[in-house]
Amino acid sequence: MASFSGITTRQRYLELPDTFYSHVHPTPLRGDVRLVHFNAGLARDMGLPMESPEEWADIGAGRALLEGMIPVAMKYTGHQFGMYNPDLGDGRGLLLWETEGPDGRVRDWHLKGAGQTPYSRFGDGRAVLRSSVREYLCGEAMHYLGIASTRSLFLVSSTEPVRRETIETAAALVRVADTHIRFGHFEYASHHLGPDAVKTLTDHTIHHHFPDLEALPESERYPAFLAEVVRRTARTIADWQGVGFCHGVMNSDNMSIIGDTFDYGPYAFLDDFDARYICNHTDQGGRYAYNRQPEIGFINCQLLAHALTSLIDEDQLRRCMREYETTYNDSFINLMRRKLGLARADDNDLGLVMDTYSMLHEHGIDYTRFFRGLSTLPSQGPAPVRDLFADRGVADEWLRRYHNRLASEDCSPEDREADMCRTNPKYILRNYLAQNVIEASQAGDDQPLAELLKVLKRPYDEQPEFEEYAALPPDWGKHMDISCSS
Ligand code: AMP
Ligand code: MG
Repeated sequence: MASFSGITTRQRYLELPDTFYSHVHPTPLRGDVRLVHFNAGLARDMGLPMESPEEWADIGAGRALLEGMIPVAMKYTGHQFGMYNPDLGDGRGLLLWETEGPDGRVRDWHLKGAGQTPYSRFGDGRAVLRSSVREYLCGEAMHYLGIASTRSLFLVSSTEPVRRETIETAAALVRVADTHIRFGHFEYASHHLGPDAVKTLTDHTIHHHFPDLEALPESERYPAFLAEVVRRTARTIADWQGVGFCHGVMNSDNMSIIGDTFDYGPYAFLDDFDARYICNHTDQGGRYAYNRQPEIGFINCQLLAHALTSLIDEDQLRRCMREYETTYNDSFINLMRRKLGLARADDNDLGLVMDTYSMLHEHGIDYTRFFRGLSTLPSQGPAPVRDLFADRGVADEWLRRYHNRLASEDCSPEDREADMCRTNPKYILRNYLAQNVIEASQAGDDQPLAELLKVLKRPYDEQPEFEEYAALPPDWGKHMDISCSS
């Protein structure tokens, strides 16, 4: 890979004290390895050589490193389902290096499924093909929906057997982000290393990832940092609620410090709307149910705030935390207004949104198709919306109220349709679509994955050749049981 030498690489995470990581070499995958997918679009943005993507397979398989890669497992801790776990860290992933793209954007690379590390606990250090395909798909889906997310650069699969509920096969993916630093890093520093380490980590994070804050005096810089993380988190979660995304495992070690959607496990996009939907079947109490996500985001920000108490006084902490509610509420109502095609704010809009959710919940209406159907009312008429309801009268009554509300808007129906179609996706990553491509890739056919990724790149556009991807899910594909095992 000679042409790779044109890229600037570094590993800024190593500027942190070595208590924050362990040097670990990838454990090569055994068996035959194949490149399942290479993210050409992302690679282009990152300025990577594209001539022979197959050459990346050896890196994915942990069989080769490029000059300059210094693989480390990051140490962090976190709250899992509300319980503090001091033993977390990269148990199967390694930070390889950072590369700078032609646009100056620096991204770090994380090889997930690279083998055991000092933080593996009882795990085998591997990731299975099923969960790796799911992570790959969802990072792309979120990105093209316009929601902050980590992304995957490439994915390899091997014939090495891995034991989960059944015997599966190992895979590994390279995930990239502006940073892989999590809330859990700060919890680790605070609970185990002390105030100096918290300051070092916070300074490092601000310097590299929130550079605009660096010029502020210290007394303002740290509160500004926390407030910004809180706002980003609130915005990302408002985006999840708007598109009907359930994360599934919102533990504080899965919360990105820059507000990315992070660590895709048993996630789901809602099909039939169910406010209390629990996508992770091991989450029996529903801690991470769809309608609890905004509150859990707040709780996670409180955990972060708690980890920063040595840098920020109590009054300021409280002020920072208040940003959550304001930002979430503003982001959510603005997004819902856009989803409903309302350019003008009306005090009764929140009531309309809540009543709409109640109706969708009570009648189990497909969330995505409902909003897409509203978007195309001017050109398609009410049928796509009405036909989602067993009781058409419910739809008609709601549509009357909606039309009354639209009467106070000045936008032309055509312009409104165009705007709404840019806000309400036609194509989302339904779990059954992911399941179909997983089964194909498990059988050695990666074409369906490539095709689905192509569809997910244009979620807001009509793609007549891919109409079937926008269909209602088949009965077997609704409310699939997705376990945490990965
Ligand atoms: P997750 O639920 O995927 O966010 O993982 C929680 C913790 O378990 C993290 O510290 C992971 O690195 C670790 N972990 C998950 N799966 C494995 C595995 N197969 N081997 C080693 N560590 C793992
Ligand atoms: Mg995790």
